[in-house]
Amino acid sequence: MANLPNANPRLWALSEVNNRKPRLFDWPKDQNGNHQRVSEIYGINTFNNVVMKGKLSKQTYAQLQATIKQGKKLDKSIANEVAHAIKEWAIENGASHFCHWFQPQTGITAEKHDAFLTLDDEGQPIERFSGGQLIQSEPDASSFPSGGRRSTFEARGYTAWDPSSPVFISEEPNGKTLCVPSVFISYYGDALDYKAPLLRSMEAVSNSAVAILHLFGKTSITRVVPTLGPEQEYFLIDRSFYNLRPDLIAAGRTLVGAKPPKGQELEDHYFGTIKDRIQAYMQEVEYEAYKLGIPIKTRHNEVAPSQFETAPIFEELNIAADHNQQVMELLRSVAARHDLALLLHEKPFAGVNGSGKHNNWSMQDSDGNNLLEPGKTPRENLQFLVFLVATLRAVYKRSGLLRAAIASSGNDHRLGANEAPPAIISAFLGEQLTNILNDIESETIVEDSSEARIIALGISQLPDVARDNTDRNRTSPFAFTGNKFEFRAVASSASVSTPMTILNAAVADALESIYAEIKSLLDDGVEFKKAIIQVVRQNVIATKNIRFEGNNYSEEWVEEAAKRGLPNLRKTPEALAEYIKPEALEVLAKTGVFTHEEAEAQYHVRVERYIKDVEIEIQALKDIIKSYVLPAGYSQQELLASSLVALKAALGEVPSRQLSELKTVSGLITDLHNHLDSFEELTASVSDADGIEEQAKKLANEVMPAMLEIREFADKLEEVIADELWPLPKYREMLFLS
Ligand code: ADP
Ligand code: MG
Repeated sequence: MANLPNANPRLWALSEVNNRKPRLFDWPKDQNGNHQRVSEIYGINTFNNVVMKGKLSKQTYAQLQATIKQGKKLDKSIANEVAHAIKEWAIENGASHFCHWFQPQTGITAEKHDAFLTLDDEGQPIERFSGGQLIQSEPDASSFPSGGRRSTFEARGYTAWDPSSPVFISEEPNGKTLCVPSVFISYYGDALDYKAPLLRSMEAVSNSAVAILHLFGKTSITRVVPTLGPEQEYFLIDRSFYNLRPDLIAAGRTLVGAKPPKGQELEDHYFGTIKDRIQAYMQEVEYEAYKLGIPIKTRHNEVAPSQFETAPIFEELNIAADHNQQVMELLRSVAARHDLALLLHEKPFAGVNGSGKHNNWSMQDSDGNNLLEPGKTPRENLQFLVFLVATLRAVYKRSGLLRAAIASSGNDHRLGANEAPPAIISAFLGEQLTNILNDIESETIVEDSSEARIIALGISQLPDVARDNTDRNRTSPFAFTGNKFEFRAVASSASVSTPMTILNAAVADALESIYAEIKSLLDDGVEFKKAIIQVVRQNVIATKNIRFEGNNYSEEWVEEAAKRGLPNLRKTPEALAEYIKPEALEVLAKTGVFTHEEAEAQYHVRVERYIKDVEIEIQALKDIIKSYVLPAGYSQQELLASSLVALKAALGEVPSRQLSELKTVSGLITDLHNHLDSFEELTASVSDADGIEEQAKKLANEVMPAMLEIREFADKLEEVIADELWPLPKYREMLFLS
């Protein structure tokens, strides 16, 4: 194979990977030569409270703090002073530019950099950053998706500072930029991003939850915030392999690739020892994250080979959402420094586990109490039960909408597949809690609400639930885990904002209905505890169908769920349609999260996105088949054919076994050609479908299955083609070499 490496880049990549000297991460040292402590560097790249206090007058500091805590807009009168302080701090720390950092409906963040540089009246350069520039900016918005909310000729969208999220300095090897976390809205106030609706949904939860807490006599509570701890899963492969896979580059997942002899069957990767190279990478990600005040806590190997997880300590939802975007960016940029490529796709490799982002969600009151934490007294536990059943009610009534919230072409490969949470949304509570709810249910009339009665119902035992960690069901898409819910079906590459926005809206609405039910009993003179138990009970009964404790991956559950009338929306187009159902539009509007027009716009953006994603995959697949797989097939064919010609010349005959080998290869090539021809016809007909909905459906129901068929032939060819003729890095190489 003397001349082969030139012809076959894969063999070059293999030798590059074999000779790679892993880059280690040198954790910076302090003046005494010791490793810098995390507590010393934590948040140094944010305009944090300590910096603020040092740079602002007492009065401005107090005003800004109040703004931050209440999530309100900044008072214009102090904007200039705050902007000046931020600018001084940023320049002292090496930033030359600033940007409004926002989250358009693309799922990634956007930024447009401006230099601090201004020329004064005499043409002299000065650094300037005004209150106006801090509060608002007007990017040319016409290229961001808006679902028709902002037609190109009226391209005015603007970004506005969200003071509840800290301003930070983004540090790249080639420069530092001051980033101002912002919302992105149209000239008329329509949400053009994911953050504005998220903030609105948090407000809705707060209002409904505070009303309930006041019923419980907790009148000092002024605010409730949803909390989030997102566990982020991801894959890492060597960059040299990545660069040779047009499918990974274009679509983030492998569109062809035969299964390796060893997959994840041995499950020897999960929680296994982290390899040096990966550990160095993780350390560097964490170091960068700590400087940004992102509280990364956990890191470990995941189930699939080359799959990993990172999770922070939970935070207020909007901060956690910003931090998760930053973490995804860090995971990507630090990977490049280590000659690694990050794959955030939900299913980068067929046949091995996909990646999710488990959204651990709860609600916290302004005294710092977790509302999903079972309490110490029966009364506290009644309150816990109210928030618990409100969440169940939310998930039950809005399961279709929640499914829509997590829908994407990537997640379709993960949901409904046999290795991941199914497309059916259900909730898991664990045995203890289920028993208690069952007891509450079976009490037909709760005449007596004395302490003794409450104890008999098991309500006083609730604190044990929180401690019971063994009772976990990893197949549930929405599981109670002691003092929070874990929404596990969220896509690994997606922003958490949309799933959390929809969950919040659903919970806010449920809390409001439950409030009304309790209030009406109280107004009728029913005693407080009795009223609570009655409302809890009726909600336990009404939402029973959403609870499922068994194996979500089983066929029986699919049948059972159908009997219960739970939606099973397998693919994105049918899932997204939930957005624009009248009852969905109504609850989104009622909670103030989306106007009808905004919900419809989101729907359009998401359907269009689905179409674009699949169309990219179509192009990438055609390219791979034509430029890589078929040529490799021809080479193998030629190898066999010329060997047969030589044999014939030497022996005067052709052994039939060897001839059949050639026929197999040439047969596969012909099959592949035929399938590719019909695939061309099929994909060309997509644009004839009537409207984007029909196009999306056609892609989901006809094109995606056709892609799988083509893949089958390609993968069969891979298995019969000489290793040195195969140009694409193989599964076993990408997944097992590092
Ligand atoms: P596991 O992998 O066992 O599910 P992890 O420790 O990886 O658990 O992740 C659990 C996540 O849940 C962490 O981010 C943690 O901070 C978060 N969490 C804990 N309590 C809450 C809460 N009250 N609200 C939101 N998230 C929480
Ligand atoms: Mg975890």
